[in-house]
Amino acid sequence: MKLHEYQAKDLLRAHDVDVPPGTVAETVDEAVEAAQEMKQGGAELFVVKAQIHAGGRGKGGGVKLAESIEEVREHAEAILGMDLVTHQTGPEGQKVRKILVTEGVDIAQEYYLGVTLDREESMNVIMVSTEGGVDIETVAEESPEKIEKVWVDPSIGLQPFHARRLAFAMNLEGDAFKQAVSAITGLYETFEATDSTLAEINPLVRTPSGDIAAVDAKINLDDNALFRHPDLEDLRDLHEEDPTEVEASEHGLSYIKLDGNVGCMVNGAGLAMATMDIIKLAGGDPANFLDVGGAASAETVEAAFRIILKDENVEAILVNIFGGIVRCDRVAKGVIQAAKNVDIDVPLIVRLQGTNAEEGKRLLDESDVTIESAVLLKEAADKVTQALGVRA
Ligand code: GDP
Ligand code: MN
Repeated sequence: MKLHEYQAKDLLRAHDVDVPPGTVAETVDEAVEAAQEMKQGGAELFVVKAQIHAGGRGKGGGVKLAESIEEVREHAEAILGMDLVTHQTGPEGQKVRKILVTEGVDIAQEYYLGVTLDREESMNVIMVSTEGGVDIETVAEESPEKIEKVWVDPSIGLQPFHARRLAFAMNLEGDAFKQAVSAITGLYETFEATDSTLAEINPLVRTPSGDIAAVDAKINLDDNALFRHPDLEDLRDLHEEDPTEVEASEHGLSYIKLDGNVGCMVNGAGLAMATMDIIKLAGGDPANFLDVGGAASAETVEAAFRIILKDENVEAILVNIFGGIVRCDRVAKGVIQAAKNVDIDVPLIVRLQGTNAEEGKRLLDESDVTIESAVLLKEAADKVTQALGVRA
């Protein structure tokens, strides 16, 4: 689960990372009011920042500096409601519903600072670079030696020398060095405390007076650990997620939309991958990945049909269920009932294999809904080919 910048910054503040003051706003007036308060506190520079779950906002026109309240108003008007396109959004962009108004800082240098999991080393890795800012991906690709890495064994945890080594790599000394150590420590603590898979400050900046501050923040939480963090679960922003994928997750289905024409409904991720291959082999293209999980009850199957059929590209549906714990005759009944409840207007091919497969096939064949049943994968693939009217 991804967080917005303003949410990530709140978490960093709680771990003593120096983050410039900011207020999130949903209207232009709220943004202006926030800036006015900052001005009364002595701020002379402001930043208006689109809050979407994608990076590269600056380049896309979603981060603007303002030197007056009037400019804050202009930028807020332009950014709120815009469809912001960055290299991490699709070409249609992402609608901006919230903006963050922060006090601007003068920047002498931008650094990259990030923590993530290194699965190969089975450790966490902290990375810093003096080449921070908007182009860190290019640095990682073209000059990886400019990124300093320190690995932290999670069973031992962050040690003071880790943070000092990284701050030395930033070529800092004196008070800036101490502040960098504290920022690195705070970021790592945030990463651990929230069960994140990624926590990043890009850029971490040094001001002309030698202070270190986090100007941007990004946190990706580990969905598998969210049950330990009900407070963080509340930070989920469903607007930022694909609506069909959200609906699927409400029914306990893992669904990922793809660009093809054959909807597929499968139980188990491995079988789902194999089924997608079979569809390719049949001359089709999978319209989705959909794992209905172990149960495959009438309710989940029905929800899955509805979700698959929301996709206008779907020209045929292939159901491929392995009856292990769940018996095929029960699945067949579920499929028949679901097919009756949902008006399926494309060919439906169903392959059931496993416990009570024959009984399941008989139920499908004898039912009064039009279902092509198949026993072998190849047979199912051929039926998909026929349904699409293409030659494999
Ligand atoms: P991103 O493009 O989505 O990563 O958004 P960032 O928050 O990182 O902002 C992009 C860039 O805007 C930064 O790399 C900075 O160069 C610039 N920027 C952001 N905040 C400030 C600020 O307070 N002062 C100044 N001078 N520049 C800023
Ligand atoms: Mn950034």
